[in-house]
Amino acid sequence: MPHYAGTIVSKLPRVGTTIFTVMSRLAAEHGAINLSQGFPDFDCAPELRALVTRYFNAGLNQYPPMAGVPVLREAVAEKAESLYGTAYDVEHEVTIVPGATYGIYTAIAAMVRPGDEVILLEPAYDSYAPGVEVHGGIPVYVQLTYPDYAIPWDAVQRAIGPRTRMIIVNTPNNPTASVFSAEDLRMLEGLLAGTDIVVVADEVYEHIVFDGHAHQSVARFPGLAERSFVVSSFGKTYHVTGWKMGYVLAPRELMAEFRKVHQFNVFVTNGPLQYALADYMKDRDAYLGLAAFYQRKRDFFVSALEGSRWRPLPSRGTFFQNLCYDAISDERDTDLAVRLTREKGVASIPVSVFYREPPQHKVLRFCFAKSEATLAKGAEILSRI
Ligand code: PMP
Ligand code: GLN
Repeated sequence: MPHYAGTIVSKLPRVGTTIFTVMSRLAAEHGAINLSQGFPDFDCAPELRALVTRYFNAGLNQYPPMAGVPVLREAVAEKAESLYGTAYDVEHEVTIVPGATYGIYTAIAAMVRPGDEVILLEPAYDSYAPGVEVHGGIPVYVQLTYPDYAIPWDAVQRAIGPRTRMIIVNTPNNPTASVFSAEDLRMLEGLLAGTDIVVVADEVYEHIVFDGHAHQSVARFPGLAERSFVVSSFGKTYHVTGWKMGYVLAPRELMAEFRKVHQFNVFVTNGPLQYALADYMKDRDAYLGLAAFYQRKRDFFVSALEGSRWRPLPSRGTFFQNLCYDAISDERDTDLAVRLTREKGVASIPVSVFYREPPQHKVLRFCFAKSEATLAKGAEILSRI
C-alpha cells in the first residue's frame, strides 16, 4: 500500500489508544488476571440469549425505525417513570442507540459548536473530552476533591461563563465509584436555572448503587430533566458490554436535534436485539437485583484484601473498587499498573489517566464484575504485595 503523502492536521492530536485497550492487551500478553477494563467475565442470562435467538429467527432482520422499536422505547419510558417519576414521551423523547458512548457523542455533536465550552468533572471518563474537541468545543475542567471525590460546587459555579454550552456529569461515577447525592443534583439544578446550558448525564451504572441508596438520576429533578440528555447502557445492566446497546432520554426539543445527527450517523440500532431487550425488560428483578449482585462482589473482593497494605476507597456504585497504594510504593500509578500486570499477574487501571494533568494520587481501579474465583485469585496476589 502506498503511503498517504498529504498533510494531516489531526483533529485529535493528543489521542492515543485507550487505557482500557492498553491494559487488557497487556493482561492478555502476560496471562494476568484482568481486573482492568470494565466488563464481566461471566455470561449474560440464558433467558436473554434465548430471546435473541428467537428474535433473530423471527424475520425481523431489516431496518427497524430510526428512533428504536416502539416496544423497547415503551419499556424504557415505563422504567424511567416508575423509578424516577418523570414521563418521557415514547414517540419524541426516547431513542435507542448503539451504546452509551455513541449516545454521549451524538448529544455533543448535536449541541456543541466550535468555541463552545463544556464543563467536565475530573477524573472524567475518557470519551468525553475527545467527543467535545472533535466538534471544536473546549473542555473546561473542574477537579473532584481527593480522596472523597466530592463535587466542589463553588468551582463548578466559577467555571460557568457566557460560552458554557454543556456540562457532562456521570453518576455512579467511573472511575471514582462515587455517586451524586440528591443535594448535589439540587445544587446543579440551582446553578443552571435560567441558563441555556444543557446537561449530558451519563448514567450507565444507574442500577449499580450500593448500601441501600437510590440512584439520583437527573430525571428526578424537573429543572435538570428539562435540559438533560440522560444516557444509559444495556451493556452494563445485562452483562452484554459487547452488544453496544443503550438509550437516550431527553425533552423533545433536545431530542429532535439529537435525532437529526443520529439519523445520518448510524440511522438505526440493531433491530433483533431491541426486541429481545424489550421482552427481557419485563423482568424487573433483572435490573432491580443488580445492585445487590454487585455489592456482594464488592464486599467479597474488599474482605479478601483485609489485612493487606492496599487501602480501599469507598465504592458507592459502579463495578469498580479503587485501592490506594500509598503504604506500598512511591511509583506513579501508570508505572505500577504496568509492573503489577507484568510481574505479579494482575491488571488494573491507573486513575491518573482520567485527568488532563495527572495528579500524584496513588490509586488504581479494579473491576469486580468478575467471578468469585477470579476475584479471589486477584485479591490473593494483591495481598502478597
Ligand atoms: N460511560 C461510562 C462511565 C462507562 O463506564 C462506559 C462503559 N464502560 C460507557 C459510558 C460506555 O457504555 P457503552 O459500552 O454502552 O458505550
Ligand atoms: N468503560 C469501560 C471501563 O471503564 C471500558 C470501555 C472501553 O473499553 N472503552 O473499563
